[in-house]
Amino acid sequence: MKKRVFSGARPTGKQHIGNYIGAIQNYVRLQEDEEFDYRIYCVVDLHALISLQETENLHQNAYEMVLDWLAAGMDPKKSIIFPQSRVPEVSELHVILSMITPLGRLYRVPTFKEKVRQQPDNVNYGLLGYPVLMTGDIILYKADTVPVGEDQAPHLELAREIVRRFNNIFGETFPEPFVRLTSFPRVLGIDGVQKMSKSLNNHIELSAPAKEVERRVKSMVTDQARVYRTDPGHPEICNVFSLHKFYSPDRLEEIAVDCRGAKIGCVDCKMMLANNLNKALDPFRERRAQFATDPNLVWDILEDGTKRARAIASQTMAKVRQKVGLA
Ligand code: SF4
Repeated sequence: MKKRVFSGARPTGKQHIGNYIGAIQNYVRLQEDEEFDYRIYCVVDLHALISLQETENLHQNAYEMVLDWLAAGMDPKKSIIFPQSRVPEVSELHVILSMITPLGRLYRVPTFKEKVRQQPDNVNYGLLGYPVLMTGDIILYKADTVPVGEDQAPHLELAREIVRRFNNIFGETFPEPFVRLTSFPRVLGIDGVQKMSKSLNNHIELSAPAKEVERRVKSMVTDQARVYRTDPGHPEICNVFSLHKFYSPDRLEEIAVDCRGAKIGCVDCKMMLANNLNKALDPFRERRAQFATDPNLVWDILEDGTKRARAIASQTMAKVRQKVGLA
């Protein structure tokens, strides 16, 4: 039996290179993998409601994100792309799964504690139930492969526990979902400390103009022990070098040797990265501008994706209702 991919992303607007390296490139690659029958990518707009800030410009943010996905190479003929809220079956499944998920287990999810710290004035049920809804997102389509960042691994562990519990109580229904990490699962921001994130403003947008990319790369934090040009560097702890791994793979060895031997300065090293990054982004920027000329393109793709997603979701829910005694 073929495997099935599902991944969801909050509609955060224009995507950055961390989104691309950590997730989107994987989505694109999986499109060519014959191992899968469906590749399902969801704009998880219901999840976005957890944080009230994200509800501003929800539609526009979804549009910008999907436009970036398309420009990056996602093909709606090979992937189902749709908004989570347009498939109401997921909310029903979420409620059913919430009845078999122990509350104590949800309190132990590391991201819940983190979110409580981040938004102490709005500790809502959605924060706690987030992994249950995420489980519903995945298993509604009977997906077993989830290409997400390593920070989502604890959620997938919980998803497998919920699936096992459901299958034990009601009989074999869902496959257990597993994480499919990229070879570059965690991309740090230009501060070199925290994960690249739009909300932290430490990101480099895929569609940023070349000059802006250069400005952001120039402001990147490097090996802080390297104060003078003559100081030997430590590429293994430098975030600029981490990005060279992705954008300058042919010159990696040379950069590492020159850095350790103080033969290259950080300014030149960053300029090389900015140039290679811009070279990689040029075709993306062109495709994005071209797709943007059709104002209906993204909405038509989401509409079509919704129909295809609902066809799978309604079959799953018909079975689930029978299993739990609701039909
Ligand atoms: Fe980092 Fe490059 Fe400077 Fe070495 S030369 S510390 S790799 S920016």
